[in-house]
Amino acid sequence: MTKEKRTKYIFVTGGVISGLGKGIASASIGYLLKARGFNVTIQKFDPYINVDPGTMSPYQHGEVFVLDDGSETDLDLGHYERFIDVNMTGINNTTTGQVYNEVITRERRGDYLGATVQVIPHITGEIQRRIVAVNKNKDFDIVICEIGGTVGDIESLPFLEAIRQFAMEQGREDCIFIHLTLVPYISASGELKTKPTQHSVGKLREIGILPDILMCRSKSTLPLDIKKKISLFCNVEAEAVIEASDAETIYEIPLNFDRQMIVEIISKKLNLPIRKGNLKQLENFVEKIKKPKHEVTIGICGKYTELHDAYKSIIESFTHAGADNDCRVNITWIESEKIDTFQKGKDALSKIEGLLVPGGFGERGIEGKITAIQAARETGKPFFGICLGMQCAVIEFARNVCGLEGANSEEFDDQTPYPVIALMEEQKTVSEKGGTMRLGAYPATLQPGTLTEKIYKEKMISERHRHRYEVNNQFVEKLKEKGMVIGGINEDLNLVEICEYPEHPYFIGCQFHPELKSRVGRTHPLFKSFVKAALDHKKSKKG
Ligand code: GLN
Repeated sequence: MTKEKRTKYIFVTGGVISGLGKGIASASIGYLLKARGFNVTIQKFDPYINVDPGTMSPYQHGEVFVLDDGSETDLDLGHYERFIDVNMTGINNTTTGQVYNEVITRERRGDYLGATVQVIPHITGEIQRRIVAVNKNKDFDIVICEIGGTVGDIESLPFLEAIRQFAMEQGREDCIFIHLTLVPYISASGELKTKPTQHSVGKLREIGILPDILMCRSKSTLPLDIKKKISLFCNVEAEAVIEASDAETIYEIPLNFDRQMIVEIISKKLNLPIRKGNLKQLENFVEKIKKPKHEVTIGICGKYTELHDAYKSIIESFTHAGADNDCRVNITWIESEKIDTFQKGKDALSKIEGLLVPGGFGERGIEGKITAIQAARETGKPFFGICLGMQCAVIEFARNVCGLEGANSEEFDDQTPYPVIALMEEQKTVSEKGGTMRLGAYPATLQPGTLTEKIYKEKMISERHRHRYEVNNQFVEKLKEKGMVIGGINEDLNLVEICEYPEHPYFIGCQFHPELKSRVGRTHPLFKSFVKAALDHKKSKKG
Protein backbone atom coordinates (compact mmCIF):
# COMPACT_ATOMS: atom_id res chain seq x y z
CA MET A 1 0.00 0.00 0.00
CA THR A 2 1.30 3.47 -0.82
CA LYS A 3 2.02 5.63 2.16
CA GLU A 4 -0.58 8.35 2.62
CA LYS A 5 1.45 11.47 3.35
CA ARG A 6 -1.06 14.06 4.35
CA THR A 7 -4.10 12.33 5.73
CA LYS A 8 -4.23 11.71 9.46
CA TYR A 9 -6.30 8.85 10.83
CA ILE A 10 -8.08 8.56 14.15
CA PHE A 11 -9.37 5.06 14.87
CA VAL A 12 -12.11 4.79 17.46
CA THR A 13 -12.80 1.45 19.12
CA GLY A 14 -15.06 0.46 21.98
CA GLY A 15 -14.78 -1.90 24.91
CA VAL A 16 -16.61 -3.43 27.89
CA ILE A 17 -20.17 -3.07 26.56
CA SER A 18 -21.89 -1.88 23.42
CA GLY A 19 -23.97 1.26 23.31
CA LEU A 20 -21.42 3.52 25.01
CA GLY A 21 -21.89 6.20 22.39
CA LYS A 22 -18.87 5.73 20.11
CA GLY A 23 -20.82 7.37 17.32
CA ILE A 24 -21.48 10.53 19.29
CA ALA A 25 -17.92 10.55 20.65
CA SER A 26 -16.54 10.30 17.09
CA ALA A 27 -18.93 12.99 15.85
CA SER A 28 -17.95 15.25 18.78
CA ILE A 29 -14.24 14.87 18.03
CA GLY A 30 -15.05 15.60 14.40
CA TYR A 31 -16.92 18.76 15.41
CA LEU A 32 -13.99 20.02 17.48
CA LEU A 33 -11.43 19.35 14.76
CA LYS A 34 -13.65 21.05 12.21
CA ALA A 35 -13.99 24.06 14.50
CA ARG A 36 -10.17 24.26 14.33
CA GLY A 37 -10.33 24.54 10.57
CA PHE A 38 -9.46 20.95 9.70
CA ASN A 39 -11.36 19.18 6.97
CA VAL A 40 -12.77 16.07 8.58
CA THR A 41 -14.78 13.07 7.55
CA ILE A 42 -15.96 10.12 9.61
CA GLN A 43 -16.27 6.54 8.49
CA LYS A 44 -18.07 3.70 10.24
CA PHE A 45 -17.30 0.01 9.97
CA ASP A 46 -20.16 -2.26 10.98
CA PRO A 47 -19.19 -5.87 11.67
CA TYR A 48 -22.52 -7.47 10.70
CA ILE A 49 -23.05 -9.52 7.55
CA ASN A 50 -26.08 -7.65 6.19
CA VAL A 51 -24.91 -5.63 3.20
CA ASP A 52 -26.64 -2.61 4.70
CA PRO A 53 -29.16 -1.97 7.48
CA GLY A 54 -31.93 -1.36 4.90
CA THR A 55 -33.26 -4.87 5.34
CA MET A 56 -33.12 -4.89 9.15
CA SER A 57 -36.06 -4.30 11.42
CA PRO A 58 -35.94 -1.02 13.34
CA TYR A 59 -36.16 -3.21 16.45
CA GLN A 60 -32.76 -4.63 15.53
CA HIS A 61 -31.06 -1.56 14.37
CA GLY A 62 -33.02 1.63 14.97
CA GLU A 63 -33.37 4.11 12.16
CA VAL A 64 -31.94 3.58 8.70
CA PHE A 65 -30.11 6.78 7.77
CA VAL A 66 -30.31 7.53 4.05
CA LEU A 67 -27.64 9.60 2.33
CA ASP A 68 -27.86 11.82 -0.77
CA ASP A 69 -26.48 9.03 -2.95
CA GLY A 70 -29.24 6.69 -1.76
CA SER A 71 -27.08 4.55 0.52
CA GLU A 72 -28.96 3.11 3.47
CA THR A 73 -26.64 3.42 6.44
CA ASP A 74 -26.22 3.10 10.18
CA LEU A 75 -27.83 5.76 12.36
CA ASP A 76 -24.39 6.90 13.52
CA LEU A 77 -23.95 8.46 10.08
CA GLY A 78 -26.81 10.73 11.14
CA HIS A 79 -24.76 11.94 14.11
CA TYR A 80 -21.74 12.45 11.90
CA GLU A 81 -23.63 14.54 9.36
CA ARG A 82 -25.47 16.52 12.02
CA PHE A 83 -22.29 17.36 13.93
CA ILE A 84 -19.78 18.01 11.17
CA ASP A 85 -22.22 19.19 8.51
CA VAL A 86 -20.73 17.17 5.64
CA ASN A 87 -22.75 15.20 3.09
CA MET A 88 -21.44 11.66 3.26
CA THR A 89 -21.59 8.87 0.69
CA GLY A 90 -21.91 5.09 0.82
CA ILE A 91 -18.18 4.61 1.37
CA ASN A 92 -18.56 6.28 4.79
CA ASN A 93 -20.34 3.15 6.02
CA THR A 94 -18.87 -0.25 5.35
CA THR A 95 -20.26 -3.55 6.62
CA THR A 96 -18.72 -7.01 6.77
CA GLY A 97 -21.36 -7.96 4.19
CA GLN A 98 -20.04 -5.37 1.71
CA VAL A 99 -16.43 -6.41 2.28
CA TYR A 100 -17.16 -10.09 1.65
CA ASN A 101 -19.41 -9.26 -1.27
CA GLU A 102 -16.58 -7.39 -2.93
CA VAL A 103 -13.95 -10.05 -2.23
CA ILE A 104 -16.18 -12.91 -3.40
CA THR A 105 -17.11 -11.03 -6.59
CA ARG A 106 -13.42 -10.56 -7.33
CA GLU A 107 -12.68 -14.18 -6.59
CA ARG A 108 -15.39 -15.31 -9.04
CA ARG A 109 -13.94 -13.00 -11.65
CA GLY A 110 -10.60 -14.72 -11.22
CA ASP A 111 -8.85 -11.62 -9.93
CA TYR A 112 -6.86 -13.53 -7.32
CA LEU A 113 -4.98 -15.54 -9.94
CA GLY A 114 -5.17 -18.91 -8.22
CA ALA A 115 -4.45 -17.70 -4.69
CA THR A 116 -6.30 -19.06 -1.67
CA VAL A 117 -8.59 -16.23 -0.61
CA GLN A 118 -8.32 -15.63 3.13
CA VAL A 119 -9.43 -13.27 5.91
CA ILE A 120 -5.83 -12.10 6.13
CA PRO A 121 -4.74 -10.59 3.77
CA HIS A 122 -7.76 -10.37 1.44
CA ILE A 123 -10.57 -9.32 3.78
CA THR A 124 -8.28 -7.06 5.79
CA GLY A 125 -6.90 -5.69 2.51
CA GLU A 126 -10.38 -4.76 1.32
CA ILE A 127 -11.08 -3.04 4.65
CA GLN A 128 -7.89 -1.02 4.24
CA ARG A 129 -8.79 -0.15 0.65
CA ARG A 130 -12.00 1.36 1.96
CA ILE A 131 -10.19 3.39 4.63
CA VAL A 132 -8.15 4.98 1.84
CA ALA A 133 -11.11 5.27 -0.54
CA VAL A 134 -13.08 7.50 1.83
CA ASN A 135 -10.50 10.19 1.11
CA LYS A 136 -9.70 9.33 -2.49
CA ASN A 137 -9.93 12.95 -3.63
CA LYS A 138 -7.70 14.02 -0.74
CA ASP A 139 -10.36 16.46 0.44
CA PHE A 140 -9.83 15.66 4.07
CA ASP A 141 -7.00 16.38 6.49
CA ILE A 142 -8.35 13.91 8.99
CA VAL A 143 -10.34 10.69 8.68
CA ILE A 144 -12.03 9.47 11.84
CA CYS A 145 -12.75 5.80 11.54
CA GLU A 146 -15.13 4.17 14.01
CA ILE A 147 -15.11 0.41 14.40
CA GLY A 148 -18.56 -0.86 15.40
CA GLY A 149 -18.99 -3.54 18.03
CA THR A 150 -16.87 -4.20 21.07
CA VAL A 151 -13.29 -5.42 21.43
CA GLY A 152 -13.42 -9.14 22.02
CA ASP A 153 -16.25 -9.77 19.54
CA ILE A 154 -15.38 -12.39 16.93
CA GLU A 155 -16.93 -10.20 14.21
CA SER A 156 -14.76 -7.16 14.89
CA LEU A 157 -11.45 -9.01 14.68
CA PRO A 158 -10.75 -8.54 10.95
CA PHE A 159 -11.43 -4.81 11.30
CA LEU A 160 -9.10 -4.46 14.28
CA GLU A 161 -6.39 -6.43 12.51
CA ALA A 162 -6.88 -4.25 9.43
CA ILE A 163 -6.46 -1.00 11.35
CA ARG A 164 -3.48 -2.37 13.28
CA GLN A 165 -1.72 -3.17 10.00
CA PHE A 166 -2.83 0.09 8.48
CA ALA A 167 -1.38 2.15 11.33
CA MET A 168 1.84 0.16 11.22
CA GLU A 169 2.26 0.84 7.50
CA GLN A 170 1.21 4.49 7.59
CA GLY A 171 3.37 5.26 10.59
CA ARG A 172 2.27 6.12 14.09
CA GLU A 173 2.68 9.87 13.53
CA ASP A 174 -0.28 9.66 11.12
CA CYS A 175 -2.53 7.32 13.08
CA ILE A 176 -3.88 7.25 16.60
CA PHE A 177 -6.20 4.95 18.48
CA ILE A 178 -8.94 6.14 20.78
CA HIS A 179 -10.64 3.53 22.92
CA LEU A 180 -13.99 4.14 24.60
CA THR A 181 -14.69 2.19 27.77
CA LEU A 182 -16.98 2.13 30.76
CA VAL A 183 -16.08 3.01 34.34
CA PRO A 184 -19.07 1.73 36.29
CA TYR A 185 -20.17 3.05 39.65
CA ILE A 186 -21.00 0.37 42.19
CA SER A 187 -23.50 1.98 44.51
CA ALA A 188 -23.27 -0.67 47.26
CA SER A 189 -19.62 0.20 47.89
CA GLY A 190 -19.82 3.74 46.53
CA GLU A 191 -16.89 3.12 44.18
CA LEU A 192 -15.95 3.71 40.57
CA LYS A 193 -14.42 0.58 39.11
CA THR A 194 -11.51 0.63 36.68
CA LYS A 195 -11.11 -3.12 36.17
CA PRO A 196 -13.42 -3.42 33.12
CA THR A 197 -11.35 -0.69 31.43
CA GLN A 198 -8.11 -2.46 32.33
CA HIS A 199 -9.39 -5.74 30.89
CA SER A 200 -10.67 -4.07 27.76
CA VAL A 201 -7.38 -2.31 27.08
CA GLY A 202 -5.59 -5.60 27.80
CA LYS A 203 -7.73 -7.26 25.15
CA LEU A 204 -6.87 -4.53 22.68
CA ARG A 205 -3.16 -4.88 23.42
CA GLU A 206 -3.39 -8.63 22.81
CA ILE A 207 -4.46 -7.79 19.28
CA GLY A 208 -1.51 -5.42 18.98
CA ILE A 209 -3.30 -2.10 19.36
CA LEU A 210 -2.01 0.30 21.98
CA PRO A 211 -4.54 3.04 22.62
CA ASP A 212 -3.28 6.63 22.67
CA ILE A 213 -6.37 8.10 24.27
CA LEU A 214 -8.98 6.52 26.53
CA MET A 215 -12.44 7.93 26.80
CA CYS A 216 -14.15 6.71 29.92
CA ARG A 217 -17.91 6.71 30.08
CA SER A 218 -19.16 7.19 33.61
CA LYS A 219 -22.24 8.45 35.35
CA SER A 220 -20.37 11.30 36.97
CA THR A 221 -16.99 13.03 37.05
CA LEU A 222 -13.84 10.91 37.14
CA PRO A 223 -11.70 11.91 40.14
CA LEU A 224 -8.00 12.46 39.53
CA ASP A 225 -6.92 9.34 41.43
CA ILE A 226 -9.13 7.18 39.19
CA LYS A 227 -7.67 8.81 36.08
CA LYS A 228 -4.17 8.18 37.41
CA LYS A 229 -4.97 4.56 38.17
CA ILE A 230 -6.34 4.02 34.68
CA SER A 231 -3.33 5.77 33.23
CA LEU A 232 -0.89 3.60 35.13
CA PHE A 233 -2.57 0.26 34.45
CA CYS A 234 -3.47 0.97 30.84
CA ASN A 235 -0.26 2.62 29.76
CA VAL A 236 -1.90 5.84 28.63
CA GLU A 237 -0.76 9.28 29.85
CA ALA A 238 -3.05 10.69 32.57
CA GLU A 239 -3.94 13.75 30.48
CA ALA A 240 -5.08 11.39 27.71
CA VAL A 241 -7.59 9.68 30.01
CA ILE A 242 -10.65 11.65 29.04
CA GLU A 243 -13.80 11.67 31.05
CA ALA A 244 -16.98 11.09 29.08
CA SER A 245 -19.61 11.52 31.74
CA ASP A 246 -23.33 11.56 31.01
CA ALA A 247 -24.46 14.88 29.57
CA GLU A 248 -27.83 16.62 29.64
CA THR A 249 -27.76 16.88 25.85
CA ILE A 250 -25.49 15.17 23.33
CA TYR A 251 -24.57 18.59 21.91
CA GLU A 252 -22.74 19.35 25.14
CA ILE A 253 -20.34 16.46 24.66
CA PRO A 254 -17.93 18.28 22.30
CA LEU A 255 -17.75 21.11 24.87
CA ASN A 256 -16.95 18.63 27.66
CA PHE A 257 -14.18 17.07 25.58
CA ASP A 258 -12.82 20.46 24.59
CA ARG A 259 -12.45 21.46 28.23
CA GLN A 260 -10.18 18.42 28.64
CA MET A 261 -7.99 19.64 25.77
CA ILE A 262 -8.71 16.65 23.60
CA VAL A 263 -7.86 18.49 20.37
CA GLU A 264 -4.51 19.59 21.76
CA ILE A 265 -3.75 16.00 22.79
CA ILE A 266 -4.75 14.69 19.35
CA SER A 267 -2.81 17.46 17.59
CA LYS A 268 0.32 16.69 19.57
CA LYS A 269 0.13 12.98 18.84
CA LEU A 270 -0.60 13.49 15.16
CA ASN A 271 1.86 16.30 14.66
CA LEU A 272 -0.85 18.73 13.68
CA PRO A 273 -0.57 22.48 14.18
CA ILE A 274 -2.20 23.67 17.41
CA ARG A 275 -5.03 25.98 16.42
CA LYS A 276 -7.60 27.98 18.31
CA GLY A 277 -11.22 27.06 17.72
CA ASN A 278 -14.41 29.01 18.10
CA LEU A 279 -17.16 27.13 19.90
CA LYS A 280 -19.42 30.10 20.57
CA GLN A 281 -22.15 28.90 18.22
CA LEU A 282 -22.30 25.49 19.91
CA GLU A 283 -22.22 27.06 23.36
CA ASN A 284 -25.19 29.26 22.51
CA PHE A 285 -27.02 26.32 20.97
CA VAL A 286 -26.50 24.20 24.13
CA GLU A 287 -27.58 27.12 26.31
CA LYS A 288 -30.84 27.39 24.35
CA ILE A 289 -31.42 23.63 24.64
CA LYS A 290 -30.84 23.64 28.38
CA LYS A 291 -32.64 26.81 29.38
CA PRO A 292 -35.39 27.60 26.90
CA LYS A 293 -38.04 30.22 27.62
CA HIS A 294 -40.95 28.27 26.18
CA GLU A 295 -42.20 24.72 25.97
CA VAL A 296 -44.43 22.75 23.59
CA THR A 297 -45.55 19.17 23.38
CA ILE A 298 -45.54 17.35 20.07
CA GLY A 299 -47.25 14.01 19.64
CA ILE A 300 -45.53 11.47 17.40
CA CYS A 301 -48.02 8.92 16.15
CA GLY A 302 -46.15 5.91 14.86
CA LYS A 303 -45.69 2.19 15.06
CA TYR A 304 -42.42 1.88 16.98
CA THR A 305 -43.38 4.22 19.81
CA GLU A 306 -41.46 2.26 22.44
CA LEU A 307 -38.31 2.26 20.31
CA HIS A 308 -37.05 5.81 20.14
CA ASP A 309 -33.94 4.90 18.13
CA ALA A 310 -36.28 4.26 15.20
CA TYR A 311 -37.01 8.00 15.14
CA LYS A 312 -33.54 9.26 16.06
CA SER A 313 -33.24 11.92 13.36
CA ILE A 314 -36.74 13.24 14.02
CA ILE A 315 -35.98 13.61 17.71
CA GLU A 316 -32.71 15.42 16.96
CA SER A 317 -34.45 17.67 14.43
CA PHE A 318 -36.90 18.68 17.16
CA THR A 319 -33.99 19.51 19.46
CA HIS A 320 -32.53 21.76 16.73
CA ALA A 321 -35.91 23.35 16.03
CA GLY A 322 -36.54 23.84 19.75
CA ALA A 323 -33.25 25.72 20.16
CA ASP A 324 -34.16 27.97 17.23
CA ASN A 325 -37.53 28.76 18.76
CA ASP A 326 -36.16 29.15 22.30
CA CYS A 327 -38.45 26.35 23.27
CA ARG A 328 -38.26 22.90 24.85
CA VAL A 329 -39.95 20.33 22.63
CA ASN A 330 -41.46 17.57 24.74
CA ILE A 331 -42.34 14.48 22.79
CA THR A 332 -45.36 12.33 23.55
CA TRP A 333 -45.65 8.98 21.83
CA ILE A 334 -49.09 8.16 20.50
CA GLU A 335 -49.69 4.52 19.76
CA SER A 336 -51.60 4.51 16.52
CA GLU A 337 -53.15 1.10 17.14
CA LYS A 338 -54.98 2.44 20.19
CA ILE A 339 -56.82 5.11 18.20
CA ASP A 340 -59.83 3.16 17.00
CA THR A 341 -62.48 5.88 17.28
CA PHE A 342 -62.59 9.54 16.25
CA GLN A 343 -63.10 10.51 19.89
CA LYS A 344 -59.90 8.70 20.88
CA GLY A 345 -58.10 10.60 18.12
CA LYS A 346 -59.40 13.89 19.49
CA ASP A 347 -58.52 12.89 23.05
CA ALA A 348 -54.97 12.02 22.03
CA LEU A 349 -54.61 15.47 20.47
CA SER A 350 -55.97 17.33 23.46
CA LYS A 351 -52.66 17.00 25.31
CA ILE A 352 -50.39 18.13 22.48
CA GLU A 353 -49.74 21.26 20.45
CA GLY A 354 -48.75 19.55 17.21
CA LEU A 355 -49.10 16.13 15.58
CA LEU A 356 -46.31 14.49 13.64
CA VAL A 357 -46.93 11.29 11.71
CA PRO A 358 -43.55 9.84 10.69
CA GLY A 359 -42.50 7.43 7.96
CA GLY A 360 -43.14 3.73 8.16
CA PHE A 361 -43.94 0.53 6.34
CA GLY A 362 -46.77 -1.97 6.54
CA GLU A 363 -50.43 -1.87 7.43
CA ARG A 364 -50.31 -2.08 11.22
CA GLY A 365 -51.64 1.07 12.90
CA ILE A 366 -52.54 2.82 9.64
CA GLU A 367 -56.21 3.45 10.44
CA GLY A 368 -55.26 5.01 13.79
CA LYS A 369 -52.87 7.40 12.04
CA ILE A 370 -55.56 8.37 9.53
CA THR A 371 -58.02 9.04 12.37
CA ALA A 372 -55.48 11.13 14.28
CA ILE A 373 -54.83 13.19 11.14
CA GLN A 374 -58.55 13.70 10.62
CA ALA A 375 -58.82 14.99 14.19
CA ALA A 376 -55.86 17.34 13.61
CA ARG A 377 -57.30 18.63 10.35
CA GLU A 378 -60.75 19.22 11.80
CA THR A 379 -59.58 20.83 15.04
CA GLY A 380 -56.90 23.09 13.54
CA LYS A 381 -54.06 21.33 15.35
CA PRO A 382 -50.69 21.84 13.58
CA PHE A 383 -49.89 18.74 11.53
CA PHE A 384 -46.70 17.55 9.90
CA GLY A 385 -46.66 14.31 7.91
CA ILE A 386 -43.44 12.69 6.76
CA CYS A 387 -43.48 10.13 3.94
CA LEU A 388 -46.03 7.58 5.17
CA GLY A 389 -47.44 10.45 7.27
CA MET A 390 -48.11 12.46 4.13
CA GLN A 391 -49.58 9.43 2.39
CA CYS A 392 -51.99 8.93 5.31
CA ALA A 393 -52.96 12.62 5.12
CA VAL A 394 -53.82 12.20 1.43
CA ILE A 395 -55.87 9.08 2.16
CA GLU A 396 -57.71 10.89 4.95
CA PHE A 397 -58.43 13.90 2.73
CA ALA A 398 -59.62 11.71 -0.13
CA ARG A 399 -61.99 9.77 2.13
CA ASN A 400 -63.37 12.54 4.33
CA VAL A 401 -63.17 15.68 2.18
CA CYS A 402 -63.35 14.40 -1.39
CA GLY A 403 -65.89 11.71 -0.49
CA LEU A 404 -63.85 8.87 -2.02
CA GLU A 405 -65.04 6.19 0.34
CA GLY A 406 -62.55 3.37 0.79
CA ALA A 407 -59.66 5.41 -0.63
CA ASN A 408 -56.36 3.86 0.37
CA SER A 409 -52.77 3.15 -0.55
CA GLU A 410 -52.10 0.09 -2.69
CA GLU A 411 -49.57 -0.84 -0.03
CA PHE A 412 -52.42 -1.61 2.40
CA ASP A 413 -55.32 -2.51 0.11
CA ASP A 414 -54.70 -3.57 -3.46
CA GLN A 415 -58.46 -3.82 -4.07
CA THR A 416 -59.24 -0.24 -3.05
CA PRO A 417 -61.63 1.55 -5.45
CA TYR A 418 -59.56 4.74 -5.05
CA PRO A 419 -55.83 4.01 -4.96
CA VAL A 420 -54.81 7.58 -4.10
CA ILE A 421 -51.37 6.32 -3.13
CA ALA A 422 -50.00 3.85 -5.64
CA LEU A 423 -47.01 2.34 -7.32
CA MET A 424 -46.24 4.27 -10.49
CA GLU A 425 -46.22 2.34 -13.78
CA GLU A 426 -42.43 2.46 -14.08
CA GLN A 427 -42.01 1.19 -10.52
CA LYS A 428 -44.24 -1.80 -11.18
CA THR A 429 -41.81 -3.22 -13.68
CA VAL A 430 -38.90 -2.52 -11.34
CA SER A 431 -40.79 -4.11 -8.46
CA GLU A 432 -40.59 -7.52 -10.05
CA LYS A 433 -36.84 -7.34 -9.82
CA GLY A 434 -36.87 -6.10 -6.22
CA GLY A 435 -35.10 -3.01 -4.99
CA THR A 436 -38.02 -0.78 -5.83
CA MET A 437 -37.50 2.06 -3.43
CA ARG A 438 -36.98 5.64 -4.46
CA LEU A 439 -33.83 6.29 -2.45
CA GLY A 440 -31.65 9.31 -1.87
CA ALA A 441 -31.70 12.94 -2.98
CA TYR A 442 -34.23 14.18 -5.53
CA PRO A 443 -34.95 17.78 -6.47
CA ALA A 444 -38.35 19.36 -6.02
CA THR A 445 -39.74 22.59 -7.41
CA LEU A 446 -41.75 24.57 -4.91
CA GLN A 447 -44.94 26.18 -6.11
CA PRO A 448 -45.07 29.98 -5.84
CA GLY A 449 -47.29 31.38 -3.13
CA THR A 450 -47.46 28.19 -1.05
CA LEU A 451 -46.71 27.93 2.65
CA THR A 452 -43.81 25.61 1.82
CA GLU A 453 -42.22 28.21 -0.44
CA LYS A 454 -42.55 30.76 2.35
CA ILE A 455 -40.89 28.36 4.79
CA TYR A 456 -37.97 27.36 2.57
CA LYS A 457 -37.55 30.79 0.95
CA GLU A 458 -36.30 28.89 -2.09
CA LYS A 459 -37.71 27.71 -5.39
CA MET A 460 -35.72 24.50 -5.81
CA ILE A 461 -34.93 22.12 -2.99
CA SER A 462 -33.23 18.76 -2.73
CA GLU A 463 -34.43 16.24 -0.17
CA ARG A 464 -33.82 12.60 0.65
CA HIS A 465 -36.28 9.83 -0.08
CA ARG A 466 -36.92 6.25 1.01
CA HIS A 467 -40.24 4.89 -0.20
CA ARG A 468 -41.98 2.87 -2.89
CA TYR A 469 -45.40 4.45 -3.20
CA GLU A 470 -46.38 7.87 -4.55
CA VAL A 471 -49.40 10.13 -4.69
CA ASN A 472 -51.41 8.86 -7.65
CA ASN A 473 -51.58 11.67 -10.23
CA GLN A 474 -55.02 10.46 -11.37
CA PHE A 475 -56.48 11.87 -8.16
CA VAL A 476 -54.51 15.10 -7.89
CA GLU A 477 -57.15 17.25 -9.61
CA LYS A 478 -59.84 15.93 -7.29
CA LEU A 479 -57.69 16.66 -4.21
CA LYS A 480 -56.93 20.16 -5.49
CA GLU A 481 -60.61 20.86 -6.20
CA LYS A 482 -61.38 20.31 -2.54
CA GLY A 483 -58.65 22.61 -1.30
CA MET A 484 -55.49 20.54 -1.04
CA VAL A 485 -52.51 22.40 -2.48
CA ILE A 486 -49.53 20.70 -4.04
CA GLY A 487 -46.64 22.64 -2.52
CA GLY A 488 -43.85 20.92 -4.41
CA ILE A 489 -43.36 18.54 -7.28
CA ASN A 490 -40.56 16.59 -8.84
CA GLU A 491 -40.71 17.85 -12.41
CA ASP A 492 -38.56 15.12 -13.99
CA LEU A 493 -40.74 12.32 -12.67
CA ASN A 494 -43.94 14.35 -12.35
CA LEU A 495 -44.44 13.31 -8.74
CA VAL A 496 -46.05 15.07 -5.80
CA GLU A 497 -43.50 15.96 -3.13
CA ILE A 498 -45.46 18.19 -0.76
CA CYS A 499 -49.14 18.59 0.13
CA GLU A 500 -50.64 21.46 2.07
CA TYR A 501 -54.10 22.40 3.26
CA PRO A 502 -54.26 26.20 3.44
CA GLU A 503 -57.67 26.27 5.15
CA HIS A 504 -55.86 24.92 8.20
CA PRO A 505 -53.39 26.97 10.32
CA TYR A 506 -50.51 24.53 9.63
CA PHE A 507 -50.97 21.34 7.67
CA ILE A 508 -48.01 20.05 5.66
CA GLY A 509 -47.07 16.63 4.41
CA CYS A 510 -43.90 15.77 2.51
CA GLN A 511 -42.99 12.63 0.61
CA PHE A 512 -39.31 12.94 1.59
CA HIS A 513 -37.51 12.79 4.92
CA PRO A 514 -36.51 16.29 6.04
CA GLU A 515 -35.21 14.92 9.36
CA LEU A 516 -32.21 13.49 7.49
CA LYS A 517 -30.96 16.97 6.67
CA SER A 518 -31.31 18.92 9.90
CA ARG A 519 -27.93 19.87 11.34
CA VAL A 520 -26.37 21.73 14.24
CA GLY A 521 -26.62 25.40 13.32
CA ARG A 522 -28.72 24.61 10.25
CA THR A 523 -32.09 23.36 11.47
CA HIS A 524 -34.34 22.02 8.77
CA PRO A 525 -36.85 24.77 7.89
CA LEU A 526 -39.86 22.42 8.02
CA PHE A 527 -39.08 21.43 11.61
CA LYS A 528 -38.36 24.98 12.62
CA SER A 529 -41.66 26.23 11.21
CA PHE A 530 -43.64 23.31 12.62
CA VAL A 531 -42.38 23.96 16.15
CA LYS A 532 -43.17 27.65 15.68
CA ALA A 533 -46.69 26.74 14.57
CA ALA A 534 -47.10 24.52 17.66
CA LEU A 535 -45.89 27.38 19.85
CA ASP A 536 -48.32 29.81 18.18
CA HIS A 537 -51.09 27.28 18.63
CA LYS A 538 -50.31 27.04 22.34
CA LYS A 539 -50.29 30.82 22.72
CA SER A 540 -53.60 31.16 20.85
CA LYS A 541 -55.22 28.61 23.15
CA LYS A 542 -54.13 30.63 26.18
CA GLY A 543 -54.96 34.04 24.76
N1 GLN B 1 -44.46 2.64 3.13
C1 GLN B 1 -44.47 3.82 2.34
C2 GLN B 1 -43.84 3.62 0.98
O1 GLN B 1 -43.14 2.68 0.75
C3 GLN B 1 -43.80 4.96 3.08
C4 GLN B 1 -42.36 4.74 3.34
C5 GLN B 1 -41.78 5.68 4.36
O2 GLN B 1 -42.51 6.29 5.12
N2 GLN B 1 -40.48 5.79 4.42
O3 GLN B 1 -44.04 4.41 0.10
